[in-house]
Amino acid sequence: MPELPEVETIKRSLQKDIVGKTITDVVINKQKLFRGDPKDVIGKKILGIKRIGKMFLIDLEGELSLLIHLKMSGQLIWNNYLPGKTTHVIIKTDDGTLFFNDLRQFGWIRVIEAGSWKREVGKLGPEPFTKEFTTEYLKKIFSKTSKAIKLVLLDQEKISGIGNIYANDALFEAGILPTRPAKSLTVKEINNLKEGIIKVLEDGIKYGGSSAGDEAYIKPDGTKGNYQDHARVYQKDGETCPRCGGIIRRINIAGRGTFFCPKCQH
Ligand SMILES: [Zn+2]
Repeated sequence: MPELPEVETIKRSLQKDIVGKTITDVVINKQKLFRGDPKDVIGKKILGIKRIGKMFLIDLEGELSLLIHLKMSGQLIWNNYLPGKTTHVIIKTDDGTLFFNDLRQFGWIRVIEAGSWKREVGKLGPEPFTKEFTTEYLKKIFSKTSKAIKLVLLDQEKISGIGNIYANDALFEAGILPTRPAKSLTVKEINNLKEGIIKVLEDGIKYGGSSAGDEAYIKPDGTKGNYQDHARVYQKDGETCPRCGGIIRRINIAGRGTFFCPKCQH
């Protein structure tokens, strides 16, 4: 699933591609992925694109927005593409075409009133790059639960933007086992984890997101991201730990592949 770095990479790319263009047609091949009346957005100019957690908010003329969630396998491809079997929505503009592909069909596009996005996205915790994301805040949310720390990192109502790739790598950075009860973390560990989260997300953005083996993520120009070549432990089970030379292990936590070094994560 695209996480903060992947969505941010796509957003930055589309900022150059689509802002200032006018929507001339919307072709919907799979109705369940599009909510709203496409006629409302035809003829509207695209004013801007923002990232909210793992979602996109595209502002249009006429107090309307498109809210987009890629979920498991959604892709937004600009121009450089022919519609394929997984192309479910095509947004044509006066200068280029945006293709929404989604193999697993959990993603969606919604036409919403510009001011209503907060209601649409529901409760979202602070983003790691904001001033609300402090050691104090994390201490408060961790102290209330004995769930595995990794599950708390994935909870978008607590922190927005982190998914399986960066949760695994942030816990490695901080030297914390993913199975540790959240409330057992010391203030020092929480601080290390906060810094680890920021470090791996920054790396994710720097390398244009992660296109690991089983991920559908590609950039709007059709190329892959490179974070997978810089991942710490994610999908590296059986390989050597980059820090201590131990062997990286894989377990499942709540059905998600979880990767860690048993020697240097405690
Ligand atoms: Zn290690």
